[in-house]
Amino acid sequence: MQDNRTAEGKGPVTYVKGGTLIDGTGRKPVLNPVIVLEGHRIKRVGTGESIKIPPRAQVIDCARCTLMPGLMDAHLHTMMFNCLSFHNYRVAQWEITPELQQMYGLFHAQLCFDMGFTTLRDLGLNSSRGLLTDHLCAVRDAINAGIVEGPRMLIGGFTVITGSHLDLIQPRAMQRLGFQTADGPWELRKLARKNLLSGCDIVKTCVTGGGGTDKEEPDVRNMTQEELDAVVDEAHAFHKAASVHCFTPQGQRMALKAGADTIEHMVFSDERTTDMIAEAGVWMTPTLLHRTDRAIQTRKDQGTSQFVLNKMKQIQPYCYETFQKMHKAGVNIALGTDMGYDPEMGANARELEIYVDLGMKPMEALLTATRNAARAIKMDNEIGTIETGKLADIIAVDGDPLKNIRCLQEKRNIRMVMKEGRIYADRRPGRNKNVVNVKPGEWKIIDYL
Ligand SMILES: [Zn+2]
Repeated sequence: MQDNRTAEGKGPVTYVKGGTLIDGTGRKPVLNPVIVLEGHRIKRVGTGESIKIPPRAQVIDCARCTLMPGLMDAHLHTMMFNCLSFHNYRVAQWEITPELQQMYGLFHAQLCFDMGFTTLRDLGLNSSRGLLTDHLCAVRDAINAGIVEGPRMLIGGFTVITGSHLDLIQPRAMQRLGFQTADGPWELRKLARKNLLSGCDIVKTCVTGGGGTDKEEPDVRNMTQEELDAVVDEAHAFHKAASVHCFTPQGQRMALKAGADTIEHMVFSDERTTDMIAEAGVWMTPTLLHRTDRAIQTRKDQGTSQFVLNKMKQIQPYCYETFQKMHKAGVNIALGTDMGYDPEMGANARELEIYVDLGMKPMEALLTATRNAARAIKMDNEIGTIETGKLADIIAVDGDPLKNIRCLQEKRNIRMVMKEGRIYADRRPGRNKNVVNVKPGEWKIIDYL
């Protein structure tokens, strides 16, 4: 035991060995890497040649695997699936209590964690009984307290106007309970404060229409500049970030003017506004996985109305084109899937394949899920790269994602998942530790019970 302790008593020293290191900085991969951990953090990064592993040292041998920073999804909704996956998901919103949905939320976070996503930014949700900010924060806190296993989570609190896109994800005629929406700058400030009191990390708002909702045009405006300014200012007053759902260039310019930290989705764009976003350095999440034919088919299978399916199909080419234009213009991009509607939690890495298909180099795509995602959520001093001093969020992948980005989509390839120096999933040869032990098909959506 003595050998594994440092003089400073910062925790045991462990050596992680692999075949290749992609450290998340964008630098070329390093062969034969050795990462020295001290407690929760990375103490040193080198190679088998530069770092001599003492005899009897504690070694995590990942053999020929690619070692990478834990992946991040900067836009998803862990508590949405099962509200919307019922056959007739509108009915489901009355059938499911927030309490049950909260348990599914934890389960969904764990599915992502098992696939190497060590950090999730959950951008909030509402329900038939009010906002789910408290429920989401409780999942985050239970994970942080160590009483359940899960990824690091950052939580958004919905702060939106009446009749906005994020209000309309609930049935139009449903009676709204609680203080779910607000109008005018002062009422919105109060709603933001309520979410902040619940403990949200991000104030999430909505400046335009969106997809996935009935009888709603995606390009309508959802807020005045005065209202948006108030919401963003309130977030910043409490040293929190403001995230803005946005489909149009007009909305993007409003978000820039208000000083938003992240703009969500890539749908409609124009050249001038795209250049302004690039210039400002504001982070955007593409959420393209949610735009694919596969996603549309899934929604169809779930009983989604033809209006919504048509709308999803109509915006699809704009989304792909906007991604390409924004990437070319040098807009800051962080991986975001908007997963939630689709019962495929854990398949977040499919988003990377779309980026590569649309022209991103594999290394750039990996950066969107590592260093750049960490920058987008303002945690790049702690996570996102494998460098001295960072928290030890490390995954071991059987395969080379630079040659085949799809290798990140198979659970059997994600051999090891470590968060803050602790191993949560270990599928190296001879081991079988998973975060989630039921297999797809062995667990049910609620209306099958
Ligand atoms: Zn979303």
